[in-house]
Amino acid sequence: MPHPTLPYDVEAVRNDFPILHQEHHPGTPLIYLDNAASSQKPRQVIEAMNEYYRTTHSNVHRGIHKLSESATLAYEGARKKIRSFINASNWREVIFTRGTTESINLVAQTWGRANLGPGDVVVSSVMEHHANIVPWQILAAERGFSIEYIPVTSDGQLDLEVYERLLTQRSVKLVSVVHCSNVLGTVNPIADMARQAHQHGALFLADGAQSVPHMPVDVQALDVDFFVFSGHKMAGPTGIGILYAKRAILESMPPYQGGGDMIAQVTLQGSTWNELPYKFEAGTPSIAEAIGLGAAVDYLGQLGMTTIHRHEQSIIQYALERLSEIPGITVYGPDACRKGAVAAFTLERIHAHDVAQLLDADGIAVRAGHHCAMPLHQHLGVTASARASFYLYSTPSEVDKLAEALYKTRRAFAL
Ligand code: PLP
Repeated sequence: MPHPTLPYDVEAVRNDFPILHQEHHPGTPLIYLDNAASSQKPRQVIEAMNEYYRTTHSNVHRGIHKLSESATLAYEGARKKIRSFINASNWREVIFTRGTTESINLVAQTWGRANLGPGDVVVSSVMEHHANIVPWQILAAERGFSIEYIPVTSDGQLDLEVYERLLTQRSVKLVSVVHCSNVLGTVNPIADMARQAHQHGALFLADGAQSVPHMPVDVQALDVDFFVFSGHKMAGPTGIGILYAKRAILESMPPYQGGGDMIAQVTLQGSTWNELPYKFEAGTPSIAEAIGLGAAVDYLGQLGMTTIHRHEQSIIQYALERLSEIPGITVYGPDACRKGAVAAFTLERIHAHDVAQLLDADGIAVRAGHHCAMPLHQHLGVTASARASFYLYSTPSEVDKLAEALYKTRRAFAL
């Protein structure tokens, strides 16, 4: 099968990622196809963090000495880069967290605790990552509201008729749905869904963990109330992520954690809160990680998110074609034009863990298991799947090697 034409020189891009040039086992090069779990980092990100530690490290927002001022400038500079990357209207709407999981827990524990009670409904979906199910379940047990889940259709889409019915028939206060599924790859129509939620007086949270790294995202165009994502899936470091929310909503929310930096005034009788975004950033933040995320955003911006998306569309289309040749394979989710660069699959009569182990022996890193989406796997009728997930440095030759290794896996099981 001929290789697709790619929009940029992928080998030049790969040269920026030192880890991609190492052997996975002696004599076997690494083929990294676990990007939905975490992406690799270009040297520009690694060097930005090293440089910060070598020359600038100090605590932020506190000292009046020069190092602290430089660290604060770099940290706040990263926030401004991220504001522009997602087109938030103001830098105060960009809160640094540890990642998507912490961002959703923050919204649940602050906005949710203040606004949800008996009779209220939170709408989520069957295709969510556990990070967008469990925080709501924990809060629902305490506050007595209920959670309704939008079902998934046989072609891996959200059932939007059920969504419409839920909005009309129930007292929905919040819709919290994934932008792009980490298993099916489905890209959900978030802008339309948010508009419908608003028409029924509900707020809308989009989990962008699998969209922001792969496609242009404009939070104002989407008109979502909350948008969350993680740095480590978008060429940035671990331990840093973002909660974006509209300013008026953030102003109305109580703080999350208490401590240094999030206060205006503390007396032994009580405290008042700092302005945004610091109200939600208690304690010493992940300074180097924020700077690393800023460098990642620069890196992605230079390639261009539209171009990255085009590259990944070519790769996933080619991957779905190659995978469809393999006897006994089931690939989950919609066709290439309606999904991100994720292919979760099962091979008849071979457990997903065995598939992943045999691929690993050929240098191919994929994930196997429920991918933190157990309800979705229950819906699919499998306990586990193997998942190949691609990124801006993935190549058609890597897809070929995956397909060859899957044929080999079948032979190893005498199939
Ligand atoms: N939501 C989705 C769709 C994800 O894919 C992930 C991670 O795989 C998360 C949330 C959780 O992200 P993190 O572990 O970075 O908090």
